[in-house]
Amino acid sequence: MSVRSLQEILSKMEQKDDTAVALVSKAYEFAQRAHVEQKRHTGEPYFIHPAEVAYYLAEAGLDASAIATGLLHDTVEDTDVPLETIGNEFGPEVMTMVDAVTKLAEIRYRGMERHTESLRKLFAATAQDIRVIIVKLMDRLYNVRTLQSSPFPEKRQRKALETLEIYAPIADRLGMSVLKQELEDAAFPWALPKEYEKTRELLKERKKENEKRLEKTEHDLKREFADAGIRNFRTEARIKGVYSLYNKLERKHWDITQIYDILALRVIFPSVADCYSALGIIHAHWRPVPGKIKDYIAFPKPNGYQSIHTTVYTGDGGALEIQLRTEAQHREALYGIASHLTYKERQIAGGRESRRGSLEWIRQFFPRARATPIPQTNSEGTVPEWIKELAHAHHSEQESDEYMDTLKSDFFSHRVFVFTPKGDVIDLPIQATPIDFAYAVHSDLGNHMSGARVNGKMVSLDTALRNGDLVEIITRSNAKPSRKWHDIAKTSMAKKHIRTAIALAEGKK
Ligand code: MN
Repeated sequence: MSVRSLQEILSKMEQKDDTAVALVSKAYEFAQRAHVEQKRHTGEPYFIHPAEVAYYLAEAGLDASAIATGLLHDTVEDTDVPLETIGNEFGPEVMTMVDAVTKLAEIRYRGMERHTESLRKLFAATAQDIRVIIVKLMDRLYNVRTLQSSPFPEKRQRKALETLEIYAPIADRLGMSVLKQELEDAAFPWALPKEYEKTRELLKERKKENEKRLEKTEHDLKREFADAGIRNFRTEARIKGVYSLYNKLERKHWDITQIYDILALRVIFPSVADCYSALGIIHAHWRPVPGKIKDYIAFPKPNGYQSIHTTVYTGDGGALEIQLRTEAQHREALYGIASHLTYKERQIAGGRESRRGSLEWIRQFFPRARATPIPQTNSEGTVPEWIKELAHAHHSEQESDEYMDTLKSDFFSHRVFVFTPKGDVIDLPIQATPIDFAYAVHSDLGNHMSGARVNGKMVSLDTALRNGDLVEIITRSNAKPSRKWHDIAKTSMAKKHIRTAIALAEGKK
């Protein structure tokens, strides 16, 4: 692999003004010089890595500051460049982002890796600017794609597991489904090699049959639409990722005949009304599988995803999933939050409809990762519950500059992240109190709370907790919740437990 040239990066950038070009060019030369002595494990120049990360970011349409951050992201950590210098040379915006990316790395090395959940939340707490997370995800994508060159099998597997357990779920939460799938499918063979092989074998067996079914359905569907006078649409096949298929197989007891969406047919329309008309035509022609109709247009998923899904019997003993969506929904489904952060998008007033036209560039941006089997171990790869609020931020407002700024700077600022004495992270709404904390840890802890210490000092129970506080709950066996607690508590979870405990106590009287 050779180093991405500055020209390649600039050519992918959407932001073409002189200031933007100058910033990225300067960052390119600066980072190249800073890393000049360093090599990757492959013996290749280290600069290959930041240059490639910057290229991914440019391809995804991020702005010049984010691309410069991609170029500079390892300079402070891995070379003797002080953060101050980055500030002097590139200004406060880039400096803040480079600092945040550097700090994300520090957390891991402080020995927190045992607490995967904690790590996820710390990730959220530290990365105050959403672009920082995207830089970090691209950094990881590059590293996981080049795992085969790592000489340490243990490190390889740890990185792969981390990718499945932390980074891919974050990409998912941000609605970046293409990136999520790339991260997963690059990591899967290294994290769970046996499971990967088994899944790939099964997939290979079914592929032909599925392809035939898709082709025939697509042909029939086009004819049905033509008969109904619907002409303005395009179709594409969606192939399920290997890791995503593996997860589904686990849920379906490895019965692949129960999985209808290995291949899905996507139909993309100009408007939402078209999607509903199409659904009617589809159901009039094919019998839908009961319980498989999902209207995510009327009821978007928590990460903002919108589409109508239906699975129909195709008349050959099988079934096929069909997904209906608009162009704007399609783009957002693929890029999620990044689709709102692209430079061009910001230039289009109210830019709900994509003007990018062909989405062909996606395929260049994320060429299918070549998967190479190896290691072993087990893990659950569960998707965390956090950042649900994200979906709302995402959909309810206009894509004004103000909205973009809110998205970038206040992304996680409506939550506080506090620690248990063991170092686990609990995330709570702002203004949450020790009472909310206690119930978030365990209802028993809340029900027997007699006091609380924050950072080693006794505090009253109505104290508002702040980011990074270490909270310790003091219990007494005969302590019990009061109505006053109910008024103080901020979370509905704490309030609910308190009501239940009070009702129980009154019932006993
Ligand atoms: Mn890096």
